[in-house]
Amino acid sequence: MQYSKYVHTFPVEDNVVALYHALLIRTVFVTNQESQQINLFFEKGTTNDHVTVEMINYLYTNYFVVNNDEEDSALYSKCMDMIAEPAISNAYIVVTENCNFNCKYCFISNAVQNVYPVKVMTKEVATNAVMLLQRTYEKQQHSYDKTITFYGGEPLLNFDIIKFFMDEVNRIKQEHYWPDDVKYALITNGSLLTKDILQSIKEYGIALSISYDVDKESHSQRIDKTGNDSYDVVKQKIALCNEMNVPFSLSITITDTLLRHRNTVLPEILKLSPLTIAFNLLIPNKETLQNDNYYEEATDFMLETFGQLRTIGMYEDRIMRKVHSFKENKMHLYDCCASGGNQYVIAPDGTIGICHGYLNNRKYFSAKVSDSEFDFREHPDYKYWKKRTPLLMPQCQDCECLSICGGGCPYAADYMYGSIYELDTRFCIHAKKVLTWLIKDLYHHITRKEQ
Ligand code: SF4
Ligand code: SF4
Repeated sequence: MQYSKYVHTFPVEDNVVALYHALLIRTVFVTNQESQQINLFFEKGTTNDHVTVEMINYLYTNYFVVNNDEEDSALYSKCMDMIAEPAISNAYIVVTENCNFNCKYCFISNAVQNVYPVKVMTKEVATNAVMLLQRTYEKQQHSYDKTITFYGGEPLLNFDIIKFFMDEVNRIKQEHYWPDDVKYALITNGSLLTKDILQSIKEYGIALSISYDVDKESHSQRIDKTGNDSYDVVKQKIALCNEMNVPFSLSITITDTLLRHRNTVLPEILKLSPLTIAFNLLIPNKETLQNDNYYEEATDFMLETFGQLRTIGMYEDRIMRKVHSFKENKMHLYDCCASGGNQYVIAPDGTIGICHGYLNNRKYFSAKVSDSEFDFREHPDYKYWKKRTPLLMPQCQDCECLSICGGGCPYAADYMYGSIYELDTRFCIHAKKVLTWLIKDLYHHITRKEQ
């Protein structure tokens, strides 16, 4: 007998180690002494100690211990059989590629290029997009999360088309199949919000996410097109949301400046009363290539904030995805909807892509919303992205984060190393730190309960 190749050990305190099954996301805590007994059993193949026998039986039943490598392979095949076929769970509707901001860290800022002259979505494209989504949902009527996200550039520069799109959805619902559980979201820099827009957002039931970096100096990278700081304007718009009782989430980019101000960030967030928050790690672009230290520090900050916010029942989205997977022993196959080919990005000119990061060069944008025969499941780009999960990537097979990390951002991997099938190494740093934290947190939770 031997440990499964998926078992990794993590010291959690002086005399205790965690045995963690990377494929099944299960954890068992043993003392150093117990661990030695297990190793002795592996060496000798027998033991007189009934406690060790019971422990080995338990570990065998839960796949931590196997008789041979073939048993690991059989378990892996069983898990792979459970991977569901792709389903479009997010559709970015890029209503405009124009933006009134010039954020220094924007990874898609190059999208504003003259080679793609149609920068503003028309009613015709919006109608075709609604019809495409209708056909897509009708073909995949099983239960899964579905979101339509209005995006840009700055989407509020073309708010009329968002309203038109929503009216088209309401019209098509009367005549055709349209699932009731589709969520609608809008990601905006917030600067153009008005009372009328907020009223419409409320009426259409669109979830509002505002990109806002919370403290003045951190937010100073989010300058408008004329180079002016946008902090005060956006702060006022957030106050307007609160005044009008329009719930909103904050999308906060972690920069070096934010990390320097880490102690003041949380109280500031709480003052703004967001519904939820989501932290963004910087995605590399030619202006902002980061070193590994940044990802270490940013992850520490996210975990620290997560630990504090959960005491008041608020959960940061990115860490929460992994907590959910860890708690429910549920494989987290993809960290974004593009991975696995579960996403449409509909550009203003009606081309359909997979990831908005490629709006700048239209890589993987080779279909059109006007093509009523388009079926993403048959499209070569979607087939290519389908297997982009750590579970199917050879580089990840021996990694402790195999089932929990989701593989980070394929676009970043492509940007850094030339293929979406390379590792997003900056994300690996983040994922490994989060997993170590989760295991220790679980241990502390269990031992606190037992005390
Ligand atoms: S691949 Fe990266 S940039 Fe593209 S949707 Fe996923 S996380 Fe975003
Ligand atoms: S992407 Fe990185 S962290 Fe995730 S499983 Fe692969 S090697 Fe591990």
